[in-house]
Amino acid sequence: MTAHKILFLIIDGLSDRPCPELGGRTPLEAANHPVLNRLAAGGVCGIMDTIAVGIRPGSDTAHLALLGYDPHTYYTGRGPLECVGSGIRMEPGMIGFRCNYATQSPDGLVIDRRAGRIHDTKILSQAVQDGVDLSEFGVEFIFRSGAGHRAALALKGEGLGHCVSSNDPKKDHAAPHTITPVGDRTQDRKTAEVCNEFVQQSGKILFDHPLNKDRLQKGLGPANIILMRGAGEMGNFEPFEKKYGLSGSVIAAASLISGIGDAVGLMQVPVEGITGSQNSNIKGKIAAAINELERKDFVLVNIKGADESGHDGLAAQKKAFIEKVDAVLEPLLDIRDCIIIVCADHSTPCSIKDHSADPVPVLIYGDGVRVDDVKEYGERTCARGGLCRITGAGLMPTAIDLINQAHKYGA
Ligand code: ZN
Ligand code: ZN
Repeated sequence: MTAHKILFLIIDGLSDRPCPELGGRTPLEAANHPVLNRLAAGGVCGIMDTIAVGIRPGSDTAHLALLGYDPHTYYTGRGPLECVGSGIRMEPGMIGFRCNYATQSPDGLVIDRRAGRIHDTKILSQAVQDGVDLSEFGVEFIFRSGAGHRAALALKGEGLGHCVSSNDPKKDHAAPHTITPVGDRTQDRKTAEVCNEFVQQSGKILFDHPLNKDRLQKGLGPANIILMRGAGEMGNFEPFEKKYGLSGSVIAAASLISGIGDAVGLMQVPVEGITGSQNSNIKGKIAAAINELERKDFVLVNIKGADESGHDGLAAQKKAFIEKVDAVLEPLLDIRDCIIIVCADHSTPCSIKDHSADPVPVLIYGDGVRVDDVKEYGERTCARGGLCRITGAGLMPTAIDLINQAHKYGA
């Protein structure tokens, strides 16, 4: 029997280095995860450099690589994908930014880069969208609120470059920077000018906005300046369905990840109660994925919480979260006609509180795989598996071959 479908589960930041507080084990090694072990025991395992040996991946570049889109070609900055994730329709050539609402004091210093952790900025973003005018540059823009203090900005127009700096001073009680071109290309100079104009015009609108006056009266920080960073140009992504001949969906809470899925043409599947955090409705995600496989050939699921624990340096919390994930994975064992891939997008070691280049454990389960001797899903156990050490670019082709859809090279 040959499977026809692929379920791709990425447990974000899952893998780690040995943790002293766990007796020298990693959180994955220390955790009790019977379902992951059964998948590993019934599948083929290995370790994987998602981008290349020694490269510390971001979640965005890693997901692109894992889906078979070389980040060196497709990635110019985080902004465009953040825009897509915020619901902005990005066309190739548009310039995207990640933005923050922040609080600026009357004397011009950024005093809170999260604007008092403001929750809902939709009214403010609408005021900016309606009030800012960039037509003197021949530029149109779309500005959208994201979660909390976050937002995204997309610029569309002739002769815009993406190599510009940020106005974010990166610390509180500092003046915002002027956005400048990086290098001396005309198109980057133009984008920098447009950005500075946008920051200035939007600042005026926000300063006078009733919602901000109200916040000031209540002793809350007004959201009166927009900080922009992560400039990038939207690439021309070959649609996933054309590339692989598979229809597909993506299930992810993080707008960056759902944005990547959207950019390559995977359909976003909303799930109630998903947060991208420890308290996310991961059971709902798995149920939605299984449901989605009824009508789609490929489903990507991203589960985020372990990465968060890694960034916070909390090994015990990370272990507990992995156990929580395992507890909702049991239905995977009953899926038929499907290749199941489980891996991380990168390691997020608790000891360094950031992503590292340590290879991640990967397992492939389903009809036709050459089952190896690995019985436990872990960083060190998987290193002894039949996949050996692969790169992220090799993962989709491996899965495509397992469902007998790979093209023959030669006679
Ligand atoms: Zn990640
Ligand atoms: Zn991370």
